[in-house]
Amino acid sequence: MRFSGLRVLKEGLTGNKGWAPHWRDPDPKPEYDVVIIGGGGHGLATAYYLAREHGITNVAVLEKGYLGGGNVGRNTTIVRANYFLPGNSEFYSHSLKLWEGLEQELNYNVMHSQRGLINLFHSDGQRDAFARRGNAMVNQGDDAILLDRDGVRRHLPYLDFDNPRFPVYGGLYHPRGGTARHDAVAWGYARGADARGVDLIQNCEVTGIDVSGGKVRGVQTTRGPIRAKKVAMIVAGRSSQVAAMAGMRLPVESHVLQAFVTEGLKPCIDHVVSFGMGHFYISQSDKGGLVFGGDLDFYASYAARGNLPMVEHVMEAGMTLMPMIGKAKVLRSWGGIMDMTPDGSPIIDKTGVEGLYLNCGWCYGGFKAVPGSGYSTAHLIARDTPHAPAAGFRLDRFRTGVGLMDEEGTGSQHNLH
Ligand SMILES: Cc1cc2nc3c(=O)[nH]c(=O)nc-3n(C[C@H](O)[C@H](O)[C@H](O)COP(=O)(O)OP(=O)(O)OC[C@H]3O[C@@H](n4cnc5c(N)ncnc54)[C@H](O)[C@@H]3O)c2cc1C
Repeated sequence: MRFSGLRVLKEGLTGNKGWAPHWRDPDPKPEYDVVIIGGGGHGLATAYYLAREHGITNVAVLEKGYLGGGNVGRNTTIVRANYFLPGNSEFYSHSLKLWEGLEQELNYNVMHSQRGLINLFHSDGQRDAFARRGNAMVNQGDDAILLDRDGVRRHLPYLDFDNPRFPVYGGLYHPRGGTARHDAVAWGYARGADARGVDLIQNCEVTGIDVSGGKVRGVQTTRGPIRAKKVAMIVAGRSSQVAAMAGMRLPVESHVLQAFVTEGLKPCIDHVVSFGMGHFYISQSDKGGLVFGGDLDFYASYAARGNLPMVEHVMEAGMTLMPMIGKAKVLRSWGGIMDMTPDGSPIIDKTGVEGLYLNCGWCYGGFKAVPGSGYSTAHLIARDTPHAPAAGFRLDRFRTGVGLMDEEGTGSQHNLH
């Protein structure tokens, strides 16, 4: 079933009776070539690219809940390629290029909107750091423009430029940055993978990973055992728990991150605005709600909900930056579970168990990585060699200390900043 303007028109005129389900609801088979644990953005994209790029279609994605119910449907949807360090820079650059062709590729409206991202700075030192970052982005082939105070004012006239604590000095403008509709990305990849023969199995929790002779043999699930030649653990906030099923202890802590949405307003915020000094960022959804968030809740947890001290902190930061936001009513808030690594950069790698792969550690920035991560993880699974843009995301960097990618320069506990 292909989507097109003509099709939408025809269905609209004939009572919308011709739409088919986006994917099948198969029972698990006893054996697959590849089993992917986790039906989030990264797991579904990996399944899609395994089929699309490598012709590997005897694949199952096992999801304990429903597709899109994890972080992929809970994030604040920012898509960008504004990284500084080699290793991250080329990876996110590749991912953004995939985003730019994604709707055509999937024949699915993921509402990718390149409305531009502006990272604000509030001191001379921060300006220098952003100038450096902008140069790195340009060297990588991405776009970056350093705006002075008046340049920011032209884009974001509603900010409090003269706040005594955080006066706005300028901003780093990344015009190709923007947003996308989060769960539509999961649905688009799910539909594409299903159409190529991948089995998407919901309500199927993996409860054990079978390993013998140093090799993975399959998984135990709430819907029975499934044998597999290769197994990929792609479960974001649950990575430590799932890896423990194979006897692994990961350098990952799980933390809560909250998001907030206001009532629908007329268009007033055209860009994504990031206020790093106050730990606050905001954009406006196509429905009109102001979508914003801030920092982690600062204690390890598997609860997908947050607490009031961070709510207060985020609201204060919003009021500091743009006092007019105080008139908007917050309608909803929620939390997601972030898989935080010590250096804040992810892991896409083989493990010590033959045939067992790991994709995790996306911290609070894994939504924008979905296409690139799926592409690189599929490459790793199919060819058993790292895909060049993701070659730096090695697991052993946390053991050897070689190749750490501390993008924010926050030291050994990224979750504490
Ligand atoms: C509030 C918030 C705001 C964010 N904002 C942004 C942003 O603006 N930009 C950005 O790039 N990133 C953002 N992120 C981060 C981003 O959402 C995550 O890094 C990314 O979605 C994680 O990858 P995923 O989509 O595969 O995870 P998930 O969607 O969580 O997928 C993992 C899946 O694994 C399943 N699973 C777990 N255990 C098992 C098991 N035993 N058996 C079977 N299935 C299992 C889960 O049910 C889940 O569906 C944000 C996150 C949050 C919470």
